[in-house]
Amino acid sequence: MLKWLIIGGGVHGVHLACVLDATRRQDCPRDRIAILDPHPSLLERWRRAAANVGMAYLRSPRVHHLDKASNSLHAYAVTHRGEAGIKYAPPYNRPSLDLFDRHCREVIASRRLDKRLLHGMARRVRALPDGLRVETDNGDIAAERIVVCTGPGEHAAWPEWATTLKTNGGDVRHCLEERLPGTFAHRDVCVLGGGISAVQTALRLAAGTTAAVALISRHDIRVHQFDSDPGWIGPKYLSAFHRTNDLRVRRRMIDNARHRGSIPPDICAALTTAVRSGRIQHYIARVTNSRITVNGRIRLVLAATTTGDEPEAVQNHAGHVADDHAIDAATILLATGHNRSRPGGDLIDHMVADFGLPCAPCGFPLPKADLRWHHPRIYLSGALAELEIGPVARNIVGARLAGRRIAPG
Ligand SMILES: Cc1cc2nc3c(=O)[nH]c(=O)nc-3n(C[C@H](O)[C@H](O)[C@H](O)COP(=O)(O)OP(=O)(O)OC[C@H]3O[C@@H](n4cnc5c(N)ncnc54)[C@H](O)[C@@H]3O)c2cc1C
Repeated sequence: MLKWLIIGGGVHGVHLACVLDATRRQDCPRDRIAILDPHPSLLERWRRAAANVGMAYLRSPRVHHLDKASNSLHAYAVTHRGEAGIKYAPPYNRPSLDLFDRHCREVIASRRLDKRLLHGMARRVRALPDGLRVETDNGDIAAERIVVCTGPGEHAAWPEWATTLKTNGGDVRHCLEERLPGTFAHRDVCVLGGGISAVQTALRLAAGTTAAVALISRHDIRVHQFDSDPGWIGPKYLSAFHRTNDLRVRRRMIDNARHRGSIPPDICAALTTAVRSGRIQHYIARVTNSRITVNGRIRLVLAATTTGDEPEAVQNHAGHVADDHAIDAATILLATGHNRSRPGGDLIDHMVADFGLPCAPCGFPLPKADLRWHHPRIYLSGALAELEIGPVARNIVGARLAGRRIAPG
């Protein structure tokens, strides 16, 4: 029987595996910790999303990485100076994606985490007298304890009209779901979304094509360095969060703290340049109608939106959109994030029902301070732990905070 099975081999699963490996005692040889994931290799979903949006630098600083020691990425970067140079972007020393990715590979290789990847999708968890049995589409696995790190969601958010277009044969894709091509050659593309993924995707495409790239956002561009205030990493804001027992209030605190659909100033500057030079047409609008035209293109009909965003955090690059303004594109790319409901699908639904595990009114799990889900053998990390970790739970630093709680020392 395994000591630990980590369900999900993404950013959180890899960091947790690393921390559990680093803190394991003599009674836990390496091969008693395993990671379960359906992909051929670890971090596949993260790498796919990063490549799709074409991000050059992370939004988070260099101390947010997947190894245990906080200076590990910089120490690695210095060692490899001759090979690739140290690449940080100001402010806050944000690592290049290339450096971050090479460091991830180093962490995985040095702890032989790739050798402990079991392929499969967890479907249901059952109690054993001395542990848990995880049923997967590839056989059963017995473990003393599990950490569920299944991520922000299997289901990307699709507006209804986009689903209908796709069903009718339109070329509509979601940048969180599939590997997008490096370029769409001369096809004009319309990107939907107002956050960093949408803007970066539009910039990547505009750099590699002479065809038109349109960006449709439902709100003005919101500029924030990070996707929540760094005060949420420590006691500055978390003390009040943890003092709050009303789970509706906790949910509201998380939602208010997250700068959803925001971009940092450097990406905003790049967008301004691209819009001014005509490489990106940016519309602040919602889609009111859509159809496939006789020549197989997609026509979107737009209406202007007013968002009431706070003016100091907002930049408007967009041209005025008259109601019923129509634009045509060959391809629609959705960068509309994930559904906001509880992630984890049937696996989590069954766990709630089978073990009677507690959830808040918003549907999200209610873990204890050590991230056990009111069960001695079931731990949570990532989106599933956000009512305890707070607004940064889904980020890399959220994985680090979870690691310290699950495997202190
Ligand atoms: C483009 C992009 C840029 C980002 N940039 C930053 C940044 O700069 N800094 C930062 O801190 N954060 C950033 N984030 C946010 C955050 O780091 C990611 O969302 C992170 O990938 C979440 O990690 P995760 O492990 O929870 O989920 P995922 O990376 O989605 O991994 C979950 C894994 O679990 C697997 N899984 C799901 N269900 C099951 C099951 N039932 N059985 C087995 N396996 C299962 C999935 O297949 C997947 O491999 C970014 C996110 C995106 C999309």
